[in-house]
Amino acid sequence: MKNIKYSIIVPVFNEEEVIQQTYQRLITVMDSTDAPYELLFINDGSKDRTEEILIEIGITDARVKLINFSRNFGHQVAISAGMDYAQGEAVVIIDADLQDPPELILDMIEKWMEGYEVVYAKRLSRKGESFFKKQSASLFYRTLRSMTDIDIPLDTGDFRLMDRKVVQQMKGLREKNRFVRGMASWVGFHQTAIEYERDERAAGETKYPLKRMLKLSMDGITSFSYKPLKLASYAGGLLAITGLIYMFYVFYLKIFTEATVPGWSSLIIIQLFFSSFVLILLGVMGEYIGRIYDETKNRPLYIVRDQYGMDEIKSIRQE
Ligand code: UDP
Ligand code: MG
Repeated sequence: MKNIKYSIIVPVFNEEEVIQQTYQRLITVMDSTDAPYELLFINDGSKDRTEEILIEIGITDARVKLINFSRNFGHQVAISAGMDYAQGEAVVIIDADLQDPPELILDMIEKWMEGYEVVYAKRLSRKGESFFKKQSASLFYRTLRSMTDIDIPLDTGDFRLMDRKVVQQMKGLREKNRFVRGMASWVGFHQTAIEYERDERAAGETKYPLKRMLKLSMDGITSFSYKPLKLASYAGGLLAITGLIYMFYVFYLKIFTEATVPGWSSLIIIQLFFSSFVLILLGVMGEYIGRIYDETKNRPLYIVRDQYGMDEIKSIRQE
């Protein structure tokens, strides 16, 4: 068997409308490299015909491999599973909906051949996405960057090429709540960017509703920064000083003037302000504690129901 040079990891969740088209675009691009490659589809618990379509494709094309999860484990886990199974010397992660143009893989390969070990794709613009999604994403990347010492590039998703050496290291990071693009920065190596205009989804709907976007951003922040936890100490210090100054003012009024300090309004405002602040901080701590709890349970990251086209590596480590 020829050694596989390129592995393309494609996470799929209910992508029946687009998957055939994605497959065609990918093989057109990859055939032009003249090197042996594999297309590794991770079916993240799809409930539509995605699995059937991929099996049909796999029957006629031995380069297509399919891993079926036992249920939906999420996009970040799906691409992590892809890295566990990928055999290529260079591994590419790409979305199934053609928002990341497959043709860019050739540019990534060129950079890889120049010696870069990670080539990530930076979005210059995003077409067909709501104003809210663009703005919130932009704000998120900038907040994350200001909170962490790791150089996580702005406006960059998971579309990237990684050398085998990098993938080997990434496989060792088994955290349960994953922010893969951050982890890829954390491992280091020689990294470079290529820039692109993000296309519209070719068909189907986004599988990242607001709730999942929020979860991903919380995973990003909690995985790479303690700053939200320190908020309590900073705010506490500031409020203590303000409180002290106010106290002296009230003493002054009481002792040296006839004025009575009016009570109800200021009391209720301070009360409301402090109790909501404390509750928010409790929530922040909850985010971290919940993630610690997830780690201590030490459950596997994902469960594979069955796999196609990859009998030869059945014994692969499955964590
Ligand atoms: N995806 C997945 N599991 C999920 C959600 C999404 O494997 O639980 C896949 C999806 O099929 C697609 C990629 O992750 O290939 C990115 O999802 P999507 O395009 O819906 O996200 P968006 O581009 O809207 O942020
Ligand atoms: Mg998409």
